[in-house]
Formats: sequence, C-alpha cells, structure tokens
Amino acid sequence: MNLIASSLVEGAPVISSSEEDFEVVNPSTGEARGLHPVGTVEDVDRAVASCRRALDARLWWDTNPAHKKKVLHRLADLMEANAAELDRIDAMEMGKPVSLTVFNATGAAGFVRFCAEAVDKCPGETLATGPGSYSAVSLVPRGVVTAIIPWNFPTFNAVLKLGPALAAGNSVVLKPSEYSPGSALRIAELAHEAGLPKGVLNVVLGQGATVGRALAEHMDVDMVAFTGSTNVGKLMLQYSASSNMKVVLAECGGKSPQIVFDDCHNLDDAAFVIAFSITMNQGQVCSTGSRLLMQSSIAEDLIGRVVQRMKEFKAGNALESTTTFGPLVTAKQMERVLSYIEKGTSEGAALVTGGHQFLKESGGYFVEPTVLKNVRPNSTVAQEEIFGPVLAATTFNTVDEAISLANSTKYGLASYVWTTDVTKTLKMMRYVKAGLVASYAAMPSDAGPGSALSVEAHGQSGIGIESGIPGIKSYMRQQLFWANY
Ligand code: NAD
Repeated sequence: MNLIASSLVEGAPVISSSEEDFEVVNPSTGEARGLHPVGTVEDVDRAVASCRRALDARLWWDTNPAHKKKVLHRLADLMEANAAELDRIDAMEMGKPVSLTVFNATGAAGFVRFCAEAVDKCPGETLATGPGSYSAVSLVPRGVVTAIIPWNFPTFNAVLKLGPALAAGNSVVLKPSEYSPGSALRIAELAHEAGLPKGVLNVVLGQGATVGRALAEHMDVDMVAFTGSTNVGKLMLQYSASSNMKVVLAECGGKSPQIVFDDCHNLDDAAFVIAFSITMNQGQVCSTGSRLLMQSSIAEDLIGRVVQRMKEFKAGNALESTTTFGPLVTAKQMERVLSYIEKGTSEGAALVTGGHQFLKESGGYFVEPTVLKNVRPNSTVAQEEIFGPVLAATTFNTVDEAISLANSTKYGLASYVWTTDVTKTLKMMRYVKAGLVASYAAMPSDAGPGSALSVEAHGQSGIGIESGIPGIKSYMRQQLFWANY
C-alpha cells in the first residue's frame, strides 16, 4: 500500500523518521485508503525548529499588515477554489457527507477571510499616566503555537486554529488527527501557494500519544491550541505544567441540552432542528444537542415528531452528493456508540428508535439515528459524551428543574432553549452554564454573528476563548511599555 501522506515542513513533504505506518480507512466502505507515518519525536523537533527559525527571522510577524491580509485572503480564495477537493478528502477519511453545507471547506474559507480582515483590528491600548510618563499595552504574537486537532470537521477545525494564530503573527505546527490528515496537508500547501513564508506553518503527522504529546511537552513551543476530548484536554494542562508552562487553549467535549418548554412556538420546527443537530455529521459534533429536556406535558408529542424527522435522512457513502447521513469515523467509534446505547437501556432507558448498526453490506460503520427516553439524569448516557447519533431524552416540570438538569453534567459548551416566554428565556440565559445559550435556534454558523461568534466554554468543556476577535487575541500576549520623559 502507498504512503498517502508525509509531514510538510517549509512547504515540502518530509519523510518521517518512524519505521511504522498508520492505516487511514474510508469509513463508508471499510477499505484502506493508504498509510501515513505514526510519527516520532524527531519529526516534531524538526518542525518546531523550523517554526522557531521563521519566528526569530520575523518572516511573518514583521510582515506589513496589509500584506498579511492579502496572503490570508489568497488562502481563503484558494480554499474556496479547492473546496470540493477538501470536502472529498474529509468525506473519504472520516465520513462527513460532501452534501453538508455547514462547517465545510467553503465555511472554513469564510472564517479565514474573517481572520484576514482582523489582522489590523486587534489594537493594544494606551494607559492613563501622570505627567512625564507614557504607558501602553501592545499585543504581540505568542510565538510558536502548536495546533492539535480532532477528526470530526478536519478542514474547519484546522482553520479555526490556523486563521487566528496566523492573523496574530505566530508560527504554527499543525497536528491533524491520525484518522484524517489529508485536508490539513492540502491547506498547508495552499497556504504556501498563497504566499505564506516557509517555516511559518508546518504540519506533522502522527499519533496523539507520541507526536501530540511531544508537541505539547516541547520546551520550544509557546502555546498549545487544542481541540478534542476532555480527557486529552486535561493532559494538555499536565504537559504544559511538566514542561515550560506554555499557554493552553483547550476546546473539549460537550453534552449540550435542547430544552423545550410547552409554550414552544412550533414543536415541528423544534423537532426538525433537534433531529438535524443530532444527526448532522452523525452526531459527531462537540456542540450537538445530545440531551433532550422536555416539559412533561409535550414529551410524547415532541418525541414522536423528532423520530419522524430523524427518518428523513438518506444514509450512504459520504462521497455521494445525495447522502445526508454517513458512517461513524472508525469501527472503534461505532462499537463505542453501540455500547453506550446498550448501557443506556441496561440503566433503565427505553429505546424509542434506532440502536443498531445498519448498511453492513457496505463494509462501513453506520449506526442508526437513535432516541432513548426515560433517561435518568445521573445515568451514563445522560452524563457522558457519546459523540454519535444518540439523543437521550428526559422530562422536567418547572423552569428551575430545567435549569438544574441543564447544569447537571461536567460539561458546559452550548445550550438550546425553546420557549416563547421572554422571562423564561432570560432566566435560562442567566443561569444555564454554557459558552453559548441559543434561544429558538440551532447553533449559529453562517447566519447571525457568523465568524464573529466567540465562545468561552464552561466546566470541563474547555479553557479559553475561541473564534471572533477575542479568539484571535487568545493567540496574542500582552506586553506593557512604560517610558518616562
Ligand atoms: P481526541 O482527544 O482523542 O484527539 C484530539 C487530538 O489530540 C488528535 O489530534 C489526537 O491525535 C490528539 N491526541 C490524542 N491523545 C493524545 C495524547 N495522549 N497526547 C497528545 N495528543 C493526543 O479527540 P477526537 O476523538 O479526535 O475528537 C472528538 C472530541 O473532540 C470530542 O470529545 C469532541 O467533543 C471534541 N471536539 C470539541 C470541539 C470544541 O470546539 N469544543 C470541536 C470539535 C471536537
């Protein structure tokens, strides 16, 4: 089998020093797509040293802001022009349907454009002083940043880190997930074509426990920008503590509630959004509404409508333009999701729909959209992130009970509220612990605040601010200047 990918340092492919390879499998068919190296500490050292050289030579940091903008806009142009290819790579490696129009390559290009425009819109400030002195705070790049990202939206997650890190003037070592390395490499190629100086962006392939760890523990890395599970996010803090106290930005897991009151304007609209949210990308979305909290009086009616909506998908190969529901990323993830469903029923939940593997003849890893009801709030399926198309439904009677259920997990990424009562909405906005509380809507993407949306997660959903102007400032360090005259 061929080597499909090798790390990209200074714009050119480099052969890993590792002797072992890792197989990337197409989850729609179970067929091997190719091999890439497992990666080594030496691979990491080489990429970090290159980034450090570029940083010390100020190849990018000292680039005129107008030119920086141009380069990032060019990258956005190239990503748009190559969006179909990037979406195909992701579909082939992790099963995101090419038909999905959110968090896809075109959306990712839009985010790069936002970052390009923000290059000269993150000013520092002048401080009040007495006569005879001048004091100001400037915002400077943090230095060498490593971006360690998951497989669920490979293209989008790559630019969620790259866009802000580059707009802020840093050098970046990007480590994509071992399951979906292709689009990160392609984006780096496009960045060089767009005019990014060599060494400012390097990509290292490999596995988390070796390459990810070596990056996060590296003494010459100034910041780790991580997206992934909460358990690995916690490791990032340990790696930082045991190395050089590098800054950690961690966007981690979630168990977000859809909270539906009996005065919801239109149960059918809510049912559509709830079903779409838990089946989009097969439920492999950090902010998906995976818990359904329903006021008792509407529970049966709502569940019926959600189940109906869940049947409106077309399952199949993620590369087919008509497919709206693809496979889970790996056989292991499929087994994990199925075992959660089993655990749910063994802990007393009732299976309303789904619950099984299907399309077995394809060789792929398909799990039916699944609804569990009568889920006890402290049971495993109500507490743990499943990261699959499994909705865990529970009922409540009062607003306070809804708030307490919403806040009953260790996570706090997003929360979706369905009511026409402004008092209830405001109470939920104030007391529900989540980085995003959305009323009457799915999570905003292109609409509403769009790329300006910035989120700071609660609880064990992460640390730090991502996206928007505050998210770009996460990649900058404040430097105080004081002069007496
Ligand atoms: P993961 O934590 O297993 O892996 C994420 C990245 O970390 C990968 O690149 C992996 O190789 C690396 N890694 C794994 N183990 C490591 C280790 N010991 N040391 C260093 N690096 C290591 O997550 P995943 O399975 O790839 O992705 C799914 C998770 O990502 C879910 O929990 C999901 O909620 C989360 N996620 C969060 C957001 C967000 O914005 N909050 C967005 C997307 C995904």
